[in-house]
Amino acid sequence: MSIQVFGLPVSRGVAIGRAVLVASSRVDVAHYFIDEAQVDDEIDRLRDARDAVARELTTLKRDLPTEAPAELPALLDVHLMLLHDEVLTGATKQWIVDRHYNAEWALSAQFEVLARQFDDMEDDYLRERKADLEQVVERLLRAMSSGAATSFAPAPGPAPGARDFGGEDPLVLVANDVAPADMLQFKHSVFTGFITDVGGKTSHTAIVARSLDIPAVVGAREASRIIRQDDWVIIDGDSGIVIVNPSPIVLEEYRFRQRQSELERARLSRLRHTPAITLDGERVELLANIELPGDAPAALEAGAVGVGLFRSEFLFLNRGGELPGEDEQFEAYRAAVEAMNGLPVTIRTVDVGADKSLDRMSVNELRHEHALNPALGLRAIRWSLSEPSMFRQQLRAILRASAYGKVRVLVPMVAHVNEARHTLEALARAKQQLTEAGLPFTDVEVGAMVEVPAAVLILPSLLRLFDYVSIGTNDLIQYTLAIDRADETVAHLYDPWHPAVLNLVAQTIAQARAAGKSVSVCGEMAGDPAFTELLLAMGLRSFSMHPSQISSIKQRVLRTDARRWASRLDQVLRAEDPQAACADLLRVLANATPSSKAIAV
Ligand code: PEP
Ligand code: MG
Repeated sequence: MSIQVFGLPVSRGVAIGRAVLVASSRVDVAHYFIDEAQVDDEIDRLRDARDAVARELTTLKRDLPTEAPAELPALLDVHLMLLHDEVLTGATKQWIVDRHYNAEWALSAQFEVLARQFDDMEDDYLRERKADLEQVVERLLRAMSSGAATSFAPAPGPAPGARDFGGEDPLVLVANDVAPADMLQFKHSVFTGFITDVGGKTSHTAIVARSLDIPAVVGAREASRIIRQDDWVIIDGDSGIVIVNPSPIVLEEYRFRQRQSELERARLSRLRHTPAITLDGERVELLANIELPGDAPAALEAGAVGVGLFRSEFLFLNRGGELPGEDEQFEAYRAAVEAMNGLPVTIRTVDVGADKSLDRMSVNELRHEHALNPALGLRAIRWSLSEPSMFRQQLRAILRASAYGKVRVLVPMVAHVNEARHTLEALARAKQQLTEAGLPFTDVEVGAMVEVPAAVLILPSLLRLFDYVSIGTNDLIQYTLAIDRADETVAHLYDPWHPAVLNLVAQTIAQARAAGKSVSVCGEMAGDPAFTELLLAMGLRSFSMHPSQISSIKQRVLRTDARRWASRLDQVLRAEDPQAACADLLRVLANATPSSKAIAV
């Protein structure tokens, strides 16, 4: 039977594929196809892991101290029994043989099947055995990964010589939750689409999913419970609808839409080298948001004229609390700067906290771990200032990269002039240390992110201290409307069209321009074509977004008469329903635009 599941659209396009259910705690497990010739080796890896865990459990049982609880030996026996049960290791072997999944993926897939069977059990005692099974699987995974890549490693991808299963069914990942850093490792993975139960449209998981440029839906609530392993699934990334086991007619319709959307992308990509200039001749800067230095080539390819936001915190995540040292960071920043061939690279100082935890924690786990509100806690610049030596290391690394190209520093979530002053002092100290050490650097511009309403209200002071500002609309919306951006239960209230949000954005742009300072928007609003005309009307001339969004925004810029829009800006800003006012204006001005000037792509 076909079922529809509704979620939040985060990444456009249509994906059609078979569901791969992955438990949130195991999304960091490597997922890749193996070659026929590797099947035996993979089974050996599974067998070796099973033998190692059996030895581990037996030793554990033998060496139990006398004061250990009486149930422990029995529990270890249960684990040993599960370990040798054919429904675990035997069936896992089958996934390797039949599907050519790597051993870790095969084990996780079999665990998902068994976990559901446990969930359906009536008997409480038996249902609770799922936790034991989970522990055994964790031990097996650990045994398999000893000496192999950690979860921080980049996308596992196919092993060298691995068979490309491309001729067979495409796969989509279904999980309750995926932490932002785990999502990052799916760049270049086998999955052609993503569905998660939790998350808001601008949660960092959604942002990374968008940067992968494949269809994704988050906040789909029960999706991972409703969808079964291997179900056929359509992900409509434009509307947020997921269709499970579609009828042949629906499937055909979506295949058609998939082809159309690919054609549209190909058409838009022809704008790559066209400068972004409005109909009335205003030059607009379209920059890229990146998470890792490896994203820089895609930014160039998309026609970005620089990096407007390098979220440096992705270098810090999933490292079990161990932070990257100065040299490691320097190499990463230098790689991004060199890849951009002289174009500016804006490196944001580390912004951890809230939904980006230093340890591998999903939003769900964070909610339980931190009953207090992490979005209002020690995050972004607050955390950096509380870790002075880490902060100076990062500043030195960024400064050192400035010797290789144009670098700008960006400070996240500034809310107080004291934070601004302390940051500038830390930067001065970092420069002094580099000078003393004889290490080269150039003068870098320093900017503040405007992400909390307080920053807008004290903007004149901030503009005196900083060289530029960049508006982080994702957080500005969150903090203005008091809506957790990662919480799907209030996602319907997270409203970028709210008049309060739009007026704060407009005020920031106007004040920065009046002060002669450059201003950019680097939140998701910049990459949403629904806001392009309005932002241009506000005077914005610098937009930073995922590389995949640049062409569609450029198309809007090319078709907009910014002056005409500016003359009607108040109409939108004063409206109770700015979205409707903007749609009206779009109709009126589209009719007024001389057709000879309209840009056809
Ligand atoms: C923002 O808040 O708009 C922003 C760009 O920063 P991040 O999404 O990383 O919090
Ligand atoms: Mg932010």
